Amino acid sequence: MPEGPTHSTGAGAGPPTGTRPTGPDGATGPAGADRRRVTIGQDPRRTGHLHDHVGQTQAPTTPATPAAPGPRGRLADRRSTVDALLRHSPAQPLFRLLATRRLAVLAYHGIEDPRTFALQMARLVRIARPVSLARIEQAVHDGRPLPARSVLVTFDDGDRTVLTEALPVLTRLQIPAAAFVVTEHVDGDRPFWWAEAAFLATHGGTARSLVGCPPGAVVRRLKALPDPDRRTALAELRESAGARAPRREQLTRDDLLTLHRSGVAVGNHTAGHPCLDRCEDDTVQDEITRSHDALTSWLGGEAPTAFAYPNGNFDGRADTLLRRLGYRVGFLFDHRHDRLLPGQPLRISRLRVNSTTSRDRFDTILSGLHPAVHRLRGGV
Ligand SMILES: [Zn+2]
Repeated sequence: MPEGPTHSTGAGAGPPTGTRPTGPDGATGPAGADRRRVTIGQDPRRTGHLHDHVGQTQAPTTPATPAAPGPRGRLADRRSTVDALLRHSPAQPLFRLLATRRLAVLAYHGIEDPRTFALQMARLVRIARPVSLARIEQAVHDGRPLPARSVLVTFDDGDRTVLTEALPVLTRLQIPAAAFVVTEHVDGDRPFWWAEAAFLATHGGTARSLVGCPPGAVVRRLKALPDPDRRTALAELRESAGARAPRREQLTRDDLLTLHRSGVAVGNHTAGHPCLDRCEDDTVQDEITRSHDALTSWLGGEAPTAFAYPNGNFDGRADTLLRRLGYRVGFLFDHRHDRLLPGQPLRISRLRVNSTTSRDRFDTILSGLHPAVHRLRGGV
């Protein structure tokens, strides 16, 4: 997920109001879109519309709601128009061609719209070549590029809908995947901290470091704080709110084994999902090794070899530790393709997507056109 400086809502990004992209972004710029004036009413990075953690507190089977009348409905309509314009723009075929020589790693979180997710996966099988995490690790190890159109499906956090909603689709279509798990939640029913904080902030919760922060911006503010301050603020929110956040059934150890044996590799996403670059040295070490040890034990002694940075925030101290622990690949959340032979295996780029992403946007994300427009708009 990204909210805050590094985690923008890339999957929801489109050109801003009145923006006229001025030219191709180097070799991958949207050569056709640059001459087309596209308009969108609101920067989704500010709305949290497709923030990586959005949807995880909702019922997993809630379908995407149609655009309602009023400003929100009009905004959704404009986004759809922009997505359609991009997908049918002259740039799309060129981008699609270039993308065949790039690695696409899709970064999902929970599955809020199982039906759309199934359509996305069916499309993936038609237009790309799903590969496993092990295949990428092998390519890195051998120094041999992956086949053209390679794509890996990943899920961050370990939301239970990965098991209940995604796995049946992946199994039916024989698509390998990887799930990066926040181990403190395994076998429990606590909500993830960002979902809890968002709930508490809308139920009267306050904290000294959140003074003046509107409830809708609390998670972003918390992610930007030094980690000890984030933990203090969470404790204060719990103390002061008028209600407790609803419980949420989480994956169990048995579920992890089921995923593991069903072609969904299980990777490390830290114990409690802090932004590592905001943590003290000891916390970086503790967060990574605790989850590493837990996963190794739960998976029958098989140590995880893949890591996903919480919030996508790379940290050099973590990188050093991951190498020492034998990790072969690490993943960012930067809304970019990577090379078919990733140049920095512990910093592999990923594309932001979720289960409500429309067909138009899904195609332009896969082609790289959407990420290029996102960057032209200043997105990170
Ligand atoms: Zn995450």
